[in-house]
Amino acid sequence: MTELDPGARRAILESCDALREESVRLLERLVRCPSTLGNEASALNEMARIYEGLGLAPQRVPVEVEKLRAHPGFSPPLVSYDGRDNVVAVHRPRSATGRSLVLQGHVDVVPEGAADEWTTPPYEPAIRNGRMYGRGAGDMKAGIISYVTAFRALKEAGLQPAAEVQMHAVIEEECSGNGALACMVAMPPCQAAIIPEPGPGLPAMYSAEVGVVWAFVTVTGRPAHVRDKQAGVNAIEAAMAIWSRFEAYEREMNRAEHIHASFRGVNHPVNVNLGTFDGGEWNSSVATRARLGLRVGVMVGNSADRVRADIERIVDAARDDAALKGAKVTVEFRGFHADPCVFDMEAPIVKLAMRSYAEVTGGDLRQYPATGLTDGRFFQLYQGTPVACFGPDAQEIHGIDESVGLDSMHDITRSIALTMAEWCGVEALS
Ligand SMILES: [Zn+2]
Repeated sequence: MTELDPGARRAILESCDALREESVRLLERLVRCPSTLGNEASALNEMARIYEGLGLAPQRVPVEVEKLRAHPGFSPPLVSYDGRDNVVAVHRPRSATGRSLVLQGHVDVVPEGAADEWTTPPYEPAIRNGRMYGRGAGDMKAGIISYVTAFRALKEAGLQPAAEVQMHAVIEEECSGNGALACMVAMPPCQAAIIPEPGPGLPAMYSAEVGVVWAFVTVTGRPAHVRDKQAGVNAIEAAMAIWSRFEAYEREMNRAEHIHASFRGVNHPVNVNLGTFDGGEWNSSVATRARLGLRVGVMVGNSADRVRADIERIVDAARDDAALKGAKVTVEFRGFHADPCVFDMEAPIVKLAMRSYAEVTGGDLRQYPATGLTDGRFFQLYQGTPVACFGPDAQEIHGIDESVGLDSMHDITRSIALTMAEWCGVEALS
């Protein structure tokens, strides 16, 4: 590998600086798109326009369930994929002398939660004290704008990558990963991937991530007027008894002997979350039906298949529980069926990204074993493509007043620009 010429390096970093304000404006545009599940179209269209602005031709990559169903990374869908095609753009060099690269990011965001608790509305980006606030600002629209700006910075410096660079803007990172999987399968493999997901409140390089299984447990009791309460079976009470079994499972899974070495020192890495709950019909009726929406973490060394079997076993055992008084219980698996993953910290792309970050900032990226997941697992597990998953300092992701540090975002932009230039090599802009 030839070292990047110092003049080119300086020119690229200067271009990043010159593009900084524009990158903040781009991020605002993307944060204004309320791209929750099923509503990603505006963000995807925005990405298509952004890719066009780089001189690339965006192409749409649909999630085709029948094509992907047999893939080990596939998760059972939650909603239809109509009108939600991912957006991909590909840069091809005049002569490919360097190593190819995927720049990947998800446009979907989790729901804003209690919007009235936000200091400023979640889809009206606001900058306070050097941070941009808004749902998705940190997770991970800033990362997407960083990679886009990094590519643009090379061009502004009169250069372009001397290798194929694919950019993937995908849906459903937050619930299945099927957007990432569809794009990975549709495109030729590259030699490395960069995914600028945010770190845990500080810039970090993902060293490992848990897997996740989603399950929906539906409990059907027996309705009765409350005056005959004893004659009924309350579905909500039965559902809470089932939930307590999952709490016991969570305690068990976090016992030291179940924790993989890559998560040593991480407090409570396997989280089981009761994220949604519906139940009951009327304050004066014994509840007929209740539904628990669960997210169950999967430790490295365990598998999504085994955790799914654990969930079925827990539900089976609950059926025999006298406390449920014969309530009917069913379980359904939709959304994440994701295996855990360890990233290769010795991979050349990871080392190069760490070095670029250190050069740009004078600081180091902390290695981060994540108790949540990213799309990085697809490239690592199913394609053997090394992944550098690192991004800006984000706070309150999935919470109220989510934000991203704009200095940190700029650091990530500059790091990706140098990493791309050195990984792919550069050629003069035609
Ligand atoms: Zn994310």
